Amino acid sequence: MLNRRSFCQSAMFTATSAALLPINLSLASPMTKVMGDLDAVTMSGKQATLRQAAVQELSDSLRGPLILPGNETYELARQVLNPAIDKRPALIVQPTGVTDVSSAVQFARDNNLVIAVKCGGHSSSGKSTCNGGMMIDLSRFRHVRVNPKSEVAYVSGGSLLGEMDHESMNHGLVTVSGTVSHTGVGGLTTGGGFGRLARRYGLTLDNVRGFDIVSADGKLRRASPYENRDLYWGVRGAGGNFGVVTSFEFNLHKMNRKVMAGSFVYPMSRLRDVMEFYSDFSMNAPDELQADLIAGYRPGDTKGFVVLALCYSGPGENVDKVMAPIKTLGKPVAGGIRSVDYVALQRSGDNTAPRSTAAYLKGGFVSQITPQLIAALEEALQPNPDRSVQMIFQQAGGAISRVPADATAFAHRYAQYNMIFTVGWKPNASAEDHVRSIKKSWKTLMPFTDGFYVNEADDDSAKLVNKNYRGNFARLLDIKKEYDPDNIFRLNANIRTS
Ligand SMILES: Cc1cc2nc3c(=O)[nH]c(=O)nc-3n(C[C@H](O)[C@H](O)[C@H](O)COP(=O)(O)OP(=O)(O)OC[C@H]3O[C@@H](n4cnc5c(N)ncnc54)[C@H](O)[C@@H]3O)c2cc1C
Repeated sequence: MLNRRSFCQSAMFTATSAALLPINLSLASPMTKVMGDLDAVTMSGKQATLRQAAVQELSDSLRGPLILPGNETYELARQVLNPAIDKRPALIVQPTGVTDVSSAVQFARDNNLVIAVKCGGHSSSGKSTCNGGMMIDLSRFRHVRVNPKSEVAYVSGGSLLGEMDHESMNHGLVTVSGTVSHTGVGGLTTGGGFGRLARRYGLTLDNVRGFDIVSADGKLRRASPYENRDLYWGVRGAGGNFGVVTSFEFNLHKMNRKVMAGSFVYPMSRLRDVMEFYSDFSMNAPDELQADLIAGYRPGDTKGFVVLALCYSGPGENVDKVMAPIKTLGKPVAGGIRSVDYVALQRSGDNTAPRSTAAYLKGGFVSQITPQLIAALEEALQPNPDRSVQMIFQQAGGAISRVPADATAFAHRYAQYNMIFTVGWKPNASAEDHVRSIKKSWKTLMPFTDGFYVNEADDDSAKLVNKNYRGNFARLLDIKKEYDPDNIFRLNANIRTS
């Protein structure tokens, strides 16, 4: 046992030894010694040199690490989820708080660098990284605090969805989040936020009470219905166009931890009749039911799969009635519905081997599943020995559609589904053939869509982005001109000012 004397001795030893230790052991992270000038690329795409002294000054001003090419952690820090994206930022800042974010933004602005903001790194088109610019990697900026009394969650800008669900549900509370728990709160929320509870409580962005944001001038601003109302409106739907959100505040809702969820699996030969059923079933679903449809082939598989994925969070006594129509589809190959823990369900789709598949994704909003759309999907979904092909209908409507189109910058309230079409291949294989194939398929599918989810915008959509903001574009343009006139924040569904 530690007596008073030995305690004093050990305390003295700790104090003395701390004084003798190399200085960096007492800091949050070792300071980077900048060994020379750095090559970079400016916002206009020109080669530039960042002087050693200026970069050292940045490093010294940070509490989180500055990571440079050649540093031990650089290769890991520059990664995003999709291994098809392989970019090399000139510098990576991993902020531990608002001050670091602000310093990073100011440095990028002073040196004319593009900023890529990485939260969960899930942007499939690689919007969270860049070549030769500044990556602000928020992975050390993760924290969730719940106030169960006021039913509000305070979530740092780099947090992941799973952290938010886990902490909120501990108090029998939830907000809306996506279906894969390692997705970032930052990217998902600022663009939209579809998920198992969105038809009940709206998009994730509809549940934002306020946030703190570092805008292009490096200043921290608070945005809410009472302060900087234009930013509060614009960030909710226009993604990262205006700055880095350092903290979100979410409304929480009381919900049972147990929900009824599961899936029914059919072979691809049944795509047509399952989709016809799904069209009716989903359009007549109560808000408490989220019904998604997934169909595709794994590489080399020729049977394919069509999956009806369901989550019902309403009163238990209604489950049988809600699910009854599914019986008319006959016996599935596999599947069923059962009572499950909501937080476990939210984790059930997580990728246990992240970065094992390279991917390209196209998406668009759909209001109605027509026989012509089903025929186009039958044509587009073709097996291939070297790639997976998959189509997902994530159900929308319900509470999402009851919010006016101009209440936030998210204008697509009419959508009943977010349709996603994606191909995946081995990371070390050439992407060319796979990307060509999805672009060809999308030509036949796109006419059935009306606008797209900004979080799924690929490079082809850049010229459609302004139009995609629909009636909200003019107001967004004014906000962009005010808060980011030089378009430092351009790696997103970018509002084009000219
Ligand atoms: C496996 C998977 C599952 C998905 N499931 C869903 C789903 O169920 N529902 C749904 O709606 N979407 C879903 N998505 C799409 C998702 O919304 C987008 O990929 C989103 O961009 C992911 O956010 P992130 O923070 O992980 O992305 P990142 O790649 O880290 O960031 C993407 C962009 O978001 C912006 N951004 C990120 N953090 C901040 C911040 N703190 N402040 C300001 N801007 C920021 C930046 O512009 C950044 O470039 C899914 C994507 C994947 C890959």
